[in-house]
Amino acid sequence: MITMKDVIQEGHPTLRKVAKEVSLPASKEDQETLQKMMEFLHNSQDPQIAEKYNLRPGVGLAAPQINVSKRMIAVLVTDQNENLYEYALYNPKIVSHSVEMTQLENGEGCLSVDRDVSGLVPRYARITVQGTNLEGEDISVRLRGLPAIVFQHEIDHLNGVMFYDRIEDAKDPLMKPVPELFK
Ligand code: ZN
Repeated sequence: MITMKDVIQEGHPTLRKVAKEVSLPASKEDQETLQKMMEFLHNSQDPQIAEKYNLRPGVGLAAPQINVSKRMIAVLVTDQNENLYEYALYNPKIVSHSVEMTQLENGEGCLSVDRDVSGLVPRYARITVQGTNLEGEDISVRLRGLPAIVFQHEIDHLNGVMFYDRIEDAKDPLMKPVPELFK
């Protein structure tokens, strides 16, 4: 199982790489990695398992965060209407988005960032994501609110982007946009 020691932290070069497309159908190894990523999210949200293994609760995980530079994400999040969004995807892609922006009121956090970073992170209010699920089916999902923000955060990881790169008026040099990523 994945534990916090498998989750790399900011400063690790893999978090700044553009991850590679997964060739489909996915290899056994890639399937196992993606399954384990989803299992980690379930474990991290289970109070007993999380305490036993000292897991920080997470609603999303991208493969680069466990030092696998491939385009895979897992999301496990409930929206304000108690709808559960459980998606494990290969090669997820935002195919359309709203003009309207949104943000989390209290900013964002990340399993790869072991400190509080204040500042609002602008995100698209609504997105449509396409990708391939663990069963090998191509799917398209329309998202808004928290699930849309989580997907954008995780897909950013596939492009070497950290949430604090998007904070406007960042004063901390660590939080300034990385210019080569935004050309
Ligand atoms: Zn993150």
